[in-house]
Amino acid sequence: MDREMQWQALLRLQQRIEAPEEIRGSASWSWRNGASVEDVYRILGAAAPARCSSCKALVWWFTHANRKRCPYDETGETHFVGCPDAAKFRRDR
Ligand SMILES: [Zn+2]
Repeated sequence: MDREMQWQALLRLQQRIEAPEEIRGSASWSWRNGASVEDVYRILGAAAPARCSSCKALVWWFTHANRKRCPYDETGETHFVGCPDAAKFRRDR
């Protein structure tokens, strides 16, 4: 996946979790210096990744500012969209 697209996705995540200014700055600096999506998740405060119960992809959980918990995958996007089994995943929740 294109790094610019990944970064756009990570910026949307930062908005959804209302990341503090200094954290955003740190994420941006790290990304420009070659950090991976996983590195940025860690900067944004993610715990160790879990496995999607359906497709077994690695997912990192975040709590949005509206208190909704949401898994993100290696693309930088929410796994509710990216999961190949997305329809089933949603039904299982
Ligand atoms: Zn999945």
